[in-house]
Amino acid sequence: MNFTLHLTENCNLDCSYCIREKCPRDMSEEVLDAACELAFAHGSSAGFCFFGGEPLLKKDLIYRALDICLEKSRVTGIPFKCKMTTNGTLLDEEFLARAKEVRMGIGLSFDGKAQDICRRFANKERSPSSEVLVKKAKLLLQYIPDAMAMATIAPQAVPYYFESVKYIHDLGFRKASFVIAYGEKVHWTDEDLDLLSEQIDKTGEYVRGLFEKGEDFYFSPLDAKIAQCIKDINPADRCHLGTRQMPVTPDGKLYPCTSFIGDEEYLLGDVFTGLDIEAQKRIAMKARAPETCLQCDLLKRCTNSCGCANRMNTGDENKVSPLQCAYERMIIEQADKIGEAMYTFDQDRFVKKYSKI
Ligand code: SF4
Ligand code: SF4
Repeated sequence: MNFTLHLTENCNLDCSYCIREKCPRDMSEEVLDAACELAFAHGSSAGFCFFGGEPLLKKDLIYRALDICLEKSRVTGIPFKCKMTTNGTLLDEEFLARAKEVRMGIGLSFDGKAQDICRRFANKERSPSSEVLVKKAKLLLQYIPDAMAMATIAPQAVPYYFESVKYIHDLGFRKASFVIAYGEKVHWTDEDLDLLSEQIDKTGEYVRGLFEKGEDFYFSPLDAKIAQCIKDINPADRCHLGTRQMPVTPDGKLYPCTSFIGDEEYLLGDVFTGLDIEAQKRIAMKARAPETCLQCDLLKRCTNSCGCANRMNTGDENKVSPLQCAYERMIIEQADKIGEAMYTFDQDRFVKKYSKI
């Protein structure tokens, strides 16, 4: 089974769009050990995503989980995989050497040129974090060259969207994933969305240019949309609400997705008593396309039934917000435009690139 371990609710940054309530609550070793047991108790593989707050505040727990799980994997023959999403500020050589050894996939939350606009330290001065982050990003790439840079674009960062993609690529990242910020702390206007569309257009041209030069660069959401289209995959199917990757809170409770944490209606059990299979089935049934989308031509290409994003935007996992609808439309339009151009430019390389994504 795969779990996202919320090792702590604490964080050393104070990002303006953060949806987490910060508090000094950490996972105990008992909860961690029980999560390790449960991960190996069902299924043919086990996996952890180390998450927070900021997971590197609890490096000791990460090392402990790795020791336990690698031993369990050796004894049972069940493969174990791990990844981590981190703000990067606490990365160091010792940790990265261990991460490399266990082939940990690392997603670095990094907003590129907009880093200091939204991602500041949680000290009295709210100091900027970009200087530290750039050093850590370079160190990360020395150890984990296929680490992914993950940016969250709030309205105030939209003017820097394209520049940030380019900057992240110039730093040496081969993979980048940009999402827009959702939640109560962000307020999108029509003007922001118009500007976002222009920025995505510029980014699309940049991604197309790199392909034509033969450079290997993966940019989600555009490359992801193209790959899903040619492979006929419905992106909404990725969500698997409550069945594929469940969060574990510091006190050991299981939920279908991070955006449902704390809502007892969505509780899926805990690491000590195990998964409530009936609750899991009931919640998985909720992940279906919203009524308002059923007649849309883009239904099969849109992430509209991702209950988590819907819930953050509308309070209802089956209701899509106008923001998400507008964003999906601009991404699909741009992906189709550059996808067609790249296919025409070099059909063989196009098929090779997108079939392996
Ligand atoms: S690094 Fe993550 S958890 Fe910390 S403040 Fe930023 S968004 Fe929130
Ligand atoms: S584009 Fe809008 S209406 Fe169409 S499926 Fe997506 S969210 Fe629904």
